[in-house]
Amino acid sequence: MNRRTVAMVKAAEGLYHSKFAILQGSYNKGGVEASAGTHDGGGAVDVDVRTKSAAQRVAVVKALREVGFAAWLRTPAQVNWPHHVHGILAGVPWHLHF
Ligand SMILES: [Zn+2]
Repeated sequence: MNRRTVAMVKAAEGLYHSKFAILQGSYNKGGVEASAGTHDGGGAVDVDVRTKSAAQRVAVVKALREVGFAAWLRTPAQVNWPHHVHGILAGVPWHLHF
C-alpha cells in the first residue's frame, strides 16, 4: 500500500478502535484473480472480516467511509474470496472502481 493509503487505513482503525486484518493491499497485480484487477494499482485495501459479526462488519465499512474510502462488504457469494470489506480511494481511475 502506498503511504496515503496506509495513513487512511490507520485513521479508519482509530475510528474502529481496533486494528484491521489486511487481506490484500494495493499493487498486487494479478495476485488475486477474484479481485479482477481492482488491486493492481494504488489506493485499494481488503479488510478481513471473516470472524466479525454483522455489526462489526458494518462498523468496518463505516470507519473506512468516514476517512474517505469507497468501501463495501463483499461476500463469498459475490466473489470467490472470504468475507471482506473492499475499500478503494477516490482519485483512482474510474475503471478500477468496482
Ligand atoms: Zn478488494
